[in-house]
Amino acid sequence: EPGLYLVATPIGNLEDITLRALRILRTCDRIACEDTRQTQKLLNHYAIQKPTVSYHLHNESTRTEELIAELKTGGRIAVVSDAGTPGIADPGGYLAQAAIAAGIQVFPIPGANAAINALIASGLSTETFTFHGFLPAKEGARKTALEALPRNATHILYEAPHRILGALDDIADVFGASQPVVVARELTKLHEEFLRGTAKEVQTTLAARAQVRGEIVLLFTLQPTQAEAPKLSIAAEVAALVKQES
Ligand code: SAM
Repeated sequence: EPGLYLVATPIGNLEDITLRALRILRTCDRIACEDTRQTQKLLNHYAIQKPTVSYHLHNESTRTEELIAELKTGGRIAVVSDAGTPGIADPGGYLAQAAIAAGIQVFPIPGANAAINALIASGLSTETFTFHGFLPAKEGARKTALEALPRNATHILYEAPHRILGALDDIADVFGASQPVVVARELTKLHEEFLRGTAKEVQTTLAARAQVRGEIVLLFTLQPTQAEAPKLSIAAEVAALVKQES
């Protein structure tokens, strides 16, 4: 079928790609890539020969026009990012919006994503969760962003390895050194690692290393604040009383 196919690719382990994704990459007209060299490695691994075109932040608007024009003539274009699900903290979302606005069909092709896979193995509550992408790089703005996070939810962030120690410091400052956190590093790769503990403990563990490397997802669940907690328990008491009455 003609349309725009948002194809998820592996986040490390090259086996993490679906049969459907491979079929679409093999049969589409061309592949729009965040970085053509990066995607070429995947295509070579699966012996897929297909024209690629770069699609990233800096050429997004001109490229979008070209690709939409091609889609309008009945083309089948696959969009991939460097890793994982296109549009999640990387390019792809803009093209999907433009395609929808132009009346073109958009198909999600499911697969790897760092946030969701870090979450499911984190041991934290998966009931209510929010993904924030990358926090601001500067400490002041990062703390302000942390302070604004809603309680009663698990928060999922992407973090650069050279900023993880600073981010853990800020979490300890804003929510207390005993705030539980999970650092998921190098998911699906040889050195995959989950560090679970308080912000202080995980910070100390990582600070003891010569260098923190690799790709990182940072997660933590915020409990209701003390001001909100009594409200919640009053609501629960009222609910219990109402139940007794009926
Ligand atoms: N689109 C991707 C996805 O679906 O997860 C995310 C792209 S974003 C530009 C890259 C960031 O995702 C990294 O800096 C890291 O925070 C996270 N990430 C990607 N692969 C990862 C992995 N294998 N392990 C841990 N985090 C990863």
